[in-house]
Amino acid sequence: MSEDCIFCQIVDGEIPGRIVYEDDDAVAFLDANPMAPGHTLVVPRTHHETLGDLPADEGEAVFAALHRLAPVVEAAVDADASTVAFNNGEAAGQEVPHVHGHVIPRFEGDGGGPIHTVAGSRPDLSDEDLDAIADDIASAAE
Ligand code: 5GP
Ligand code: ZN
Repeated sequence: MSEDCIFCQIVDGEIPGRIVYEDDDAVAFLDANPMAPGHTLVVPRTHHETLGDLPADEGEAVFAALHRLAPVVEAAVDADASTVAFNNGEAAGQEVPHVHGHVIPRFEGDGGGPIHTVAGSRPDLSDEDLDAIADDIASAAE
């Protein structure tokens, strides 16, 4: 646990949170400042800042909880869809440095955008650039 981490404190019951699901490795609770009714956060029990810091088994537990909860959350608030995403690092907008996946219920005509709108302007990449990037990722992912 990280003493000054708000999500560690929710996981440990030190501060109140509207917990909607928990298992050995993952906990889910309502976002305190929701983007939509039912906006839910899924966190690993242990403190890690980003997905890259998270051990594989805890990452699997977080994904399993997201997989379980996305349809449940949608149904609970009668949503048409959901956006499921991580702000993975400060430059991506992560404010709480305890990795968390957002399940944000979405409604036809809610005025929000797709995930494609979160990055800045699109880069102009040649086929060669794309090949090189794909090679770098593929060899690092082995
Ligand atoms: P981030 O920008 O780090 O991806 O998102 C952090 C989220 O945590 C925000 O949506 C914010 O509303 C939520 N949040 C911040 N503090 C608290 C808190 O004390 N309790 C709960 N339940 N959510 C919080
Ligand atoms: Zn934490």
